[in-house]
Parts: sequence; structure tokens; C-alpha cells
Amino acid sequence: MAFEGLAERLQGTLQRVKGKGKLSEADVKEMMREVRFALIEADVNLKVVKGFVKKVSERAIGQDVMNSLTPGQQVVKIVKDELTELMGGEQSKVEFAAKSPTVIMMVGLQGAGKTTTTGKLANVLRKKNNRKPLLVAADIYRPAAIKQLETIGKQLSLPVFSKGTDVSPVEIARQAIEHAKEEHLDTVIIDTAGRLHVDEELMQELKDIRALKEPDEVFLVVDAMTGQDAVNVAQSFNELLGISGVILTKLDGDTRGGAALSVRSVTEKPIKFVGMGEKLDALEAFYPERMASRILG
Ligand code: GDP
Repeated sequence: MAFEGLAERLQGTLQRVKGKGKLSEADVKEMMREVRFALIEADVNLKVVKGFVKKVSERAIGQDVMNSLTPGQQVVKIVKDELTELMGGEQSKVEFAAKSPTVIMMVGLQGAGKTTTTGKLANVLRKKNNRKPLLVAADIYRPAAIKQLETIGKQLSLPVFSKGTDVSPVEIARQAIEHAKEEHLDTVIIDTAGRLHVDEELMQELKDIRALKEPDEVFLVVDAMTGQDAVNVAQSFNELLGISGVILTKLDGDTRGGAALSVRSVTEKPIKFVGMGEKLDALEAFYPERMASRILG
């Protein structure tokens, strides 16, 4: 069952107050300490943890928890509800343009899984939304990325638009959008250049691509395993470029997924998908409630 981890953590307090009838404010505080530990252990950003615990304490103290016959379950429920809400409540969908083609920019740092996720996303949109995607190889600084995308396109039997490394990414994107119109491909997914760090040149290039035709989605691809770093990356991309959503990769690893909570809370942008493996069908819709369970262990 979900939330056994947190429920177990709260057992100590509950055992101690058993028979006492009501919980005191101090008891709730003690439980909140356990909530804080659980979140920190899941690698949630400290600032996010503080804000979250404050909010949950207020709710817990302000409600009938202290008079409840099952205060532990009540606290767990409040924590779960708040976590779910913080991560976006209902699961989000992809925005498509009223007039084709829809343009989706994939942005992120090198190694986050951007190129792989470009293929995975195209695959999902084709299967679930009946879209006709065109993959665009605009990561010209890592020549292997172009080959990688071409290979992915072959594996998925999806068209890939590439112009090698001598044409600028902006020009590649422009031509790709034209090509999609001619070929009646309704979803252009651009694999933009990654870098090791966020820098001005990268942001300028991404802004130039974005200026061609306002994208319907700008998805930031972040590696869930990078924990705290993911937050800084997400904050920078969101402030400097503006993103519309996040795709969190490598959740098949042993991370508890605290990055999901941090990234969402810092950017206030929805997490739309999660990467669950290296295979091209390993991209799933993001479910806030499931992630909440995972974070609390
Ligand atoms: P890019 O530099 O951001 O384009 O990253 P790549 O798409 O080349 O991915 C970097 C590495 O991460 C590759 O070995 C991918 O197979 C791997 N990868 C991407 N997404 C996932 C995922 O969800 N789970 C796992 N385990 N590996 C992933």
C-alpha cells in the first residue's frame, strides 16, 4: 500500500500518544519532523521541504486531526493530498496547435536524455494522439546526436529532418517546419542543442528558434537522478527561456523522485511525462499521486 513508509515513520509518535485521546500541537510538530525527514531523504530541495511542511502543519493543526480517532492516517492523508496538489493535481496533456503543425521544442542539458526522449515522445504522440511527427536534429554541436536521432527515427519508422552540422540550428528548425507543412506532418519535435551547463549562447540560440514560430510546447528534459541540480537547471531554463512543461527522465533508477516535487514547485510548470528506461516505449504520463507515494516511500 502507498505511504506505508510515512505511516511507519509516524508510528513512534502514535504509539507514544496512544491512550492519551487527543494529539497535542507538539505531537503534530513531531510528526512533521518525520515528514521533513522523509522528503529530505527523497532528495527534495530544502527550501521546498520547508514551505511544504509549513503548509501541511497549518492544515494538520487547523483541522480535526487532533481530535480524530485516527490522527496518523489523517496526517498521512493531508501530506498525500498536499503533495499531489503541489505536483499539479490532475495529470497534464500536451497542447496541440489549432493549425498544424504543432511545434514542440525539447530543451535540456547534455546527457539528460533529450534525444532519446524526443523519439519516445514522438512514439507516444503517434500512438495515443494519432499524430504524424517529424523529428528534427538541431543538436549540431554533438554530431553523435544527429546520428542517434536518425537511428531512433529508423527504429520507430518515423521521419527525421537533419542537415548535418554546418547549417545553423535556427535554419534547420525553419526548414523543418516548412518541410512538415509540405509533407503534412502535423507535429514537429525539435531536438535542440544541449550543453554541459546553462550558458548565454545556448539560451540565445534557443530563443532564436523559439522566435521562428511560437512553439506550442517547450519541454525541459531533466534527469531525475541529478536531484538538487535538476532544480537549478529547471529554474534557469524557466527564467531565461520560459518552459511550458517538464519531462523527468531516468525514474527507473533508484531515485525516490524528489526532483519531481522540487522542479514543479520551483518552476510551477507541470511535469508531463516520466522516462522509465532506455527503450523507446519507456515514456509514461506523469501521475502526481503515484509520484507522491514514491517520494514518501
Ligand atoms: P541527451 O544528451 O540529453 O540528448 O541524452 P541522450 O538522449 O543521449 O541520453 C543519455 C543517456 O541516458 C542515454 O544512454 C539514454 O539511453 C539514457 N536515458 C534517457 N532516458 C532514460 C530513462 O528514462 N531511463 C534510463 N535508464 N536511461 C535513460
